[in-house]
Amino acid sequence: MNVGILGGGQLARMLAQAGRPLGLSFMFLCPDSNACAAPYGELLCAPYDDERAQNRLIKWADVTTYEFENIPLSVVESIQRQVTLHPSFSALAVARDRLVEKQRFAAMGIPIEKYSPINSLPELKAALQNIGLPAILKTRTQGYDGKGQFKLTKESDLSVAWDRLGKKPCIVEAVVPFKRELSIIAARDQNGQMVYYPVSENHHRDGILRLSIIRLNDSLQTKVNQMIKIIMDDFNYVGVMALELFQDKDRLLANELAPRVHNSGHWSIEAARTSQFENHLRAICGLPLGESSTDQLAAMVNLVGNLPKEEHIRNISGATPHFYGKAERPGRKVGHITLTSSNGSTDEFYKQLATLLQITGESKLAGQKL
Ligand code: AMP
Repeated sequence: MNVGILGGGQLARMLAQAGRPLGLSFMFLCPDSNACAAPYGELLCAPYDDERAQNRLIKWADVTTYEFENIPLSVVESIQRQVTLHPSFSALAVARDRLVEKQRFAAMGIPIEKYSPINSLPELKAALQNIGLPAILKTRTQGYDGKGQFKLTKESDLSVAWDRLGKKPCIVEAVVPFKRELSIIAARDQNGQMVYYPVSENHHRDGILRLSIIRLNDSLQTKVNQMIKIIMDDFNYVGVMALELFQDKDRLLANELAPRVHNSGHWSIEAARTSQFENHLRAICGLPLGESSTDQLAAMVNLVGNLPKEEHIRNISGATPHFYGKAERPGRKVGHITLTSSNGSTDEFYKQLATLLQITGESKLAGQKL
C-alpha cells in the first residue's frame, strides 16, 4: 500500500522505518527541503497548500496520515474529501486548538484543570480573579515544546505575557502542582479494537520532553486506559493517539492529546512487541493491530540541541541511539536514545540510566530518584 504523510520530520521518518518491512511505500509532503524522512520515501518539497503537490499525493496514496498538528486545516479537510485520511480531520481540528480541546474533554467527562479562554488583557486580569496565581497563559494554536506559553507568577507578568505571546487568542489555566506527569498511548483499528501501551512517566525541562520511563503495572494504568478509550471511541478514531496527563495527589487531569505517534512512545521500537509506529500504520492500513506489551524496563532520553559522542553511548549497555539526520540547533530534537533492561537487573538499568542522563546533559535528572 502507498502511505502519504503530511510532514517529513522524525515522526514521519520512524513511521516509514517501521512500515518498510510491512511492504508499505511512503511519500511525504513537507515544505522543508532537508526533511529528515526523505531517505525513506519520496519527498514532495512544497508548501502544504500547494495544489499540484497535494494532487500528486492524493493520486498516489491509498491512505494518508499526518505527523504533527500545525498543518493548515483547510489542507487536511481537502485531502480527507479526496482520499482516506486517518486519524480524521475532526480529531486534528480538536487537538490543534487548546480551547476546543478543553471543551471537548469537558463534554466527554474527562477531568481537566480550571481554565478560561482569553481574548484581551482585561479578560486575562478578570480570569485570574478566579484562577489565581501561579497560572500559565497558552496560545490556543501553534504551541509545541513549550513555545507559545508563559508562566504567570505575579501581577506584572500579565501584560508582559500578553505582549510576548503576540496578543493572540489564548487560554489561561492554573499551574497544577503535579506529583507526576504521565502519558498513555493507544492504538485503535478500523473495527474499534484497541491496544494500550504501558503508562509512561515524563520529565520536561524548559517545556521540552527530556525523559520518558515506562511504568509496568502502574496503579493508574486501568484508569488511564479507560480515559483514552472514551476519547478514541468518541472520535471513532483510527490510528495511534497519546494523552498527556497530570497526577496531582488524588486528581488525574488531562493536559492535552496528540492525534499521532508521540515522543513518549519511542521506547516501543526496541522494547514493545509492536512499536507505536507499526501499530499506527497497521490501524490506518486496515491491518490487525500487534501486541503492545513488553516485559522489559525501558526509558527514552531525548537528544536536544546536539548529539553526544558515539563512544560515550557505546559504553552504556542496553542503549540504542536514534539520530534523526537533522542539523544540530539549540532546543531542536535531533535524536533520542532508548535504554532497555534486556540484559541486566533493575538496579543495573537505573545505573545505566543515570549515566545516560549525564552524557546527554540532564545531570539534574541523573541525580534524582527516578
Ligand atoms: P503543554 O504544551 O501544554 O503540554 O505544556 C508543556 C509542558 O509544560 C507540560 O508537559 C508541563 O510540564 C508544563 N505544563 C503545561 N501546563 C501546565 C499546568 N497547567 N500546570 C503545570 N505544568 C504545566
